[in-house]
Amino acid sequence: MSNKRILIVEDELSIAELERDYLEINDFDVVIETNGREGLETALKETFDLYILDVMLPDVDGFEICRSIREVKNTPVIMVTARKDDIDKIRGLGLGADDYVTKPFSPSELIARVKAHLARYDRLVSSQPENDIIEIRGLKIDKTARRVFINGEEKQFTTKEFDLLTFLAANPNHVYSKEELFREIWNMDSIGDIATVTVHIKKIREKIEFNTSKPQYIETIWGVGYRFKV
Ligand code: CA
Repeated sequence: MSNKRILIVEDELSIAELERDYLEINDFDVVIETNGREGLETALKETFDLYILDVMLPDVDGFEICRSIREVKNTPVIMVTARKDDIDKIRGLGLGADDYVTKPFSPSELIARVKAHLARYDRLVSSQPENDIIEIRGLKIDKTARRVFINGEEKQFTTKEFDLLTFLAANPNHVYSKEELFREIWNMDSIGDIATVTVHIKKIREKIEFNTSKPQYIETIWGVGYRFKV
């Protein structure tokens, strides 16, 4: 089994290196970023098992990095802060951090929390077979039960609407033409009316989008088709 990968975003290199040393002793692979903007880029571009984010960082702060990670993944996030008034913000709704430690902290306490969150996340992931549940931001698709929820509220879908949404969500960021979608979902060579696709996309958006003129899930790529944005 390969080691778990952890990203540390921390501008005080001595703290980052201390954290890294303790994590490496415990068989974790560690990447350090000392700048908020680069930390954010690495956090989103690469795959990690856990993030340790300092709050006060140059360019982009730890809150913003946490929020951006949460838009696309549920990977555990531990925030590190020296300021007491940050704690309320970290606990506050909307940020999505799993835990926090306050400076100065003992490295062994940090390691214990890292292990606890990795174990919790493993249990969470293994109890939800990845292929059966698609969860992206507030949208949850249960493929087995064929149910769709937006921010916990169930929405009713017709068979084709469900198939189309699930197909797009299961292939995120890939642009599909209407013809391709028609072939994929209606299962016949595009002899039918591809306007059907447009109509179904419109109906799906009315159910899942907060603002249908600014869709956050299914994006129209003019002259090409649609893609599910992640
Ligand atoms: Ca800092």
